[in-house]
Amino acid sequence: MKKIVAYKPLPDDVLAYLRQHAEVVQVDATQHEALAAALKDADGAIGSSVKITPRMLEGATKLKALSTVSVGFDQFDVADLTRRGIVLAHTPDVLTESTADTVFSLMLASARRVVELADWVRAGQWRSGIGPAHYGVDVQGKMLGIVGLGRIGGAVARRAALGFNMKVQYTNRSPNLQAEQAYGARRVELGELLATSDFVCLQVPLTPETRHLIGADQLRAMKKSAILINASRGATVDEAALIEALQSGTIHAAGLDVFETEPLAADSPLLKMPNVVALPHIGSATHETRHAMARNAAENLVAALDGTLTTHIVNRDVLHK
Ligand code: NAP
Repeated sequence: MKKIVAYKPLPDDVLAYLRQHAEVVQVDATQHEALAAALKDADGAIGSSVKITPRMLEGATKLKALSTVSVGFDQFDVADLTRRGIVLAHTPDVLTESTADTVFSLMLASARRVVELADWVRAGQWRSGIGPAHYGVDVQGKMLGIVGLGRIGGAVARRAALGFNMKVQYTNRSPNLQAEQAYGARRVELGELLATSDFVCLQVPLTPETRHLIGADQLRAMKKSAILINASRGATVDEAALIEALQSGTIHAAGLDVFETEPLAADSPLLKMPNVVALPHIGSATHETRHAMARNAAENLVAALDGTLTTHIVNRDVLHK
């Protein structure tokens, strides 16, 4: 019987499904040595949020497939997996709409100061009418710049253009004609996007090219009134430069779901700023979507081990090895 390592807690029905196909060994992902040891005689593994390094795969000669319960795959050395003949599967699509909802909640919360003012009410400070000191800025009708308009960026563009009457511009290496036609999205250079957007929303994957894509120079190029939204990966933004930009008023505010180091340190300067909304990486974290992702990842793994998986493969070239 095949052996699967589950390095993330999975719903009971998903575990039961996997057990119909293989022996399942559950491992605590924080125990890296135990995980590496379990992989040694495994055929496949399923999990997320843990770096799987080439060193952890030394001696894992039976390993045929890894299935990440996420769309992002920056926790893997994809070229190394391909060299080893290991299929890497991921879960695009099922999380797109929930993650776009998170992006929009960050936009609304940052612009309308929802968290800051809710805390103010809770602290018993609402003693008379509110005035300009409590006003926010509009979201509707504004210019949204999406850096990386793919699946999630497209779902954000749809909400913005059709629901909030926003103008949408974006940067991608190749055009997204569907978003251009359906939402009037305009493809521009990053410099133009930064200089003219009221909201700059990052939705690129983390790669060597996108690491610190937004640094001090890019923050300086943004409008003073701009709000930065990051629900991609923390390292697409130079966090030290962002802290400096927020402290010195280079940009107006930020809505962040992701950070360079997660969990975010309790003493991070970001947590002291009223103009920052910080969330604990909840992009796709709804009951429905997390269940769908786990199910999808399990099905991907079973199919990959059977040699029948044709979609959701990150390293397609592995199939031709
Ligand atoms: P996707 O459909 O692949 O979209 C990514 C977009 O980024 C594409 O339009 C791509 O267009 C663009 N892009 C890639 N490299 C680029 C570069 N160097 N410069 C400019 N644009 C670039 O992926 P998705 O499903 O929307 O997911 C995007 C990312 O969101 C994931 O990789 C993940 O890291 C993150 N995510 C976060 C959460 C969360 O919990 N916060 C949840 C889900 C996903 P071109 O290829 O044409 O450049």
